[in-house]
Amino acid sequence: MDTEDAGIYFDHHASTAVDDRVVAEMEDAFDEVYANPASRTNHQAGQEAHGAVSEARERIVDAIGATRTEEVVFTSGATESDNLALKGVMREARDNGDGSHLITAATEHEAVLEACDALKWEGFDVTVLPVDEYGRVNPSDLRAAIRDETVLVSIMAANNEVGTVAPLAEIGEITTEEGVLFHTDAVQAVGYVELDVDELGIDLMSISGHKIYGPKGVGALYVRYGSAHLKPMFHGGGHERGWRSGTLNVPGIVGLGKAVELAEAEREDRVAHIGKLRDEFERRLCEEVDDIAVNGHPEHRLPNNLNVSFVGADDQRLVARLNDDGLYAATGSACSTMETRESHVLTAMLDDENRIQSSVRFGLGKDNSEEDVTRAVEIITSNVGRLRQFGGLS
Ligand SMILES: *Cc1c(COP(=O)(O)O)cnc(C)c1O
Repeated sequence: MDTEDAGIYFDHHASTAVDDRVVAEMEDAFDEVYANPASRTNHQAGQEAHGAVSEARERIVDAIGATRTEEVVFTSGATESDNLALKGVMREARDNGDGSHLITAATEHEAVLEACDALKWEGFDVTVLPVDEYGRVNPSDLRAAIRDETVLVSIMAANNEVGTVAPLAEIGEITTEEGVLFHTDAVQAVGYVELDVDELGIDLMSISGHKIYGPKGVGALYVRYGSAHLKPMFHGGGHERGWRSGTLNVPGIVGLGKAVELAEAEREDRVAHIGKLRDEFERRLCEEVDDIAVNGHPEHRLPNNLNVSFVGADDQRLVARLNDDGLYAATGSACSTMETRESHVLTAMLDDENRIQSSVRFGLGKDNSEEDVTRAVEIITSNVGRLRQFGGLS
């Protein structure tokens, strides 16, 4: 990655720079693979495009412990993957008379929560489970919420604001026992958490390229063969088993495949390097700044996440000042386009307005260094001090 500006980028939950090795494979795909993969039955050029897509599919299958390449459906990103999983499964189930109830959690990404709202308008029944103060659902709440009409449980692998990692194996055990489908939005977990869909009992899983050093605008939905069936959202030429029509984004898919392969191959190194930086960052902030609270689970948290409330400092002012000093962080959920909305994640976890309104999300990445952490701590310490001293009015 070329860092042309001197800014310290601590916003890796929002997006990441594309890895050079991913760019290199995408460039080859742009240069050499130009035909439509659907033309493989007509000519050699089509076969080459199909081959490039197949290789990406295989890389993803290998990385997530899936068994068949048909289980990977390429999409335009995780927003589409989440929508396709929820709407596709629920609409198909209703049409087959298989039920109309869906269970999710209060801290899910907007792509899941808003899709649930849309489904409610269509007459589906949605249960939104509460979370504890660390952002985790209680597996016994989940078990109690499952009933005869339940079709699907959608609970994210790791949260994009506070980094809390869900008890995936326990959830998968419950859904398997109860005979309902388990979808997980694993966008933030790829490259940090071992995601073996068979071992964890996952039936559908959403991933996104741009959160894992891959390109924007491309993602995938894993769909367990023979168990989950979808009603398509796009109708057309019948691509991707008829579940997602549209000519495939070949260079994007090549980039996604490479990014997923690297994320899994380098997972342990990334966890070790980034986790060490994050722990050091957290330790020094707690030492040097009074009155701060770390949000998220003390143990079951992504190694790249640090979400901190600087009680008494307004989060938007603070993030703007950090930006002025070259430290890029986020307030609340950066995925939301409505700037002044309070974080639904922190609101579901905490009963403390001061803590919710003063929270800043830092997301570290594989290319950050100890030097970045040292400078970040200095920038934060001086700005928090000034904001608190002047009551946030300057
Ligand atoms: C970013 C994100 C999404 C949306 O992914 P896009 O590919 O940007 O549409 C969904 N879920 C989570 C948890 C995310 O962090």
